[in-house]
Amino acid sequence: MDASTMFCKHCGQVIDAECIICPRCGKQVAEIKREAAIPQIVINNSNSNVNTNVNKNTNAMVGGRPKNKWVALTLCFFLGILGAHKFYEGKTGMGILYICTAGLCLVGVIIDFIALLGKPNPYYV
Ligand SMILES: [Zn+2]
Repeated sequence: MDASTMFCKHCGQVIDAECIICPRCGKQVAEIKREAAIPQIVINNSNSNVNTNVNKNTNAMVGGRPKNKWVALTLCFFLGILGAHKFYEGKTGMGILYICTAGLCLVGVIIDFIALLGKPNPYYV
């Protein structure tokens, strides 16, 4: 037995002197060194990946996929009666309905165009 080992004060097992928790009985055999613990906390706080993940989660909670307002407006203006802006938003069922009804007799297209004008850019669907 060399200087890097010690006896567990709970079960008597020979364990590494660096051990804080005895690997045999699982009890705490040493105080957690403050000098070692503080740098670990600093590393966690400076981890920028955490902030990135939070932002992604926030966007998902707002309502999903970001859409460019001006792309949707252009599609609505030129191809609105074919439901192009509905397909762009991922609303395939509404897009097919617009094709069959010529954009709800153009009324739906006009309403969508005005609604799109009032939306922020990008907007979320
Ligand atoms: Zn032990």
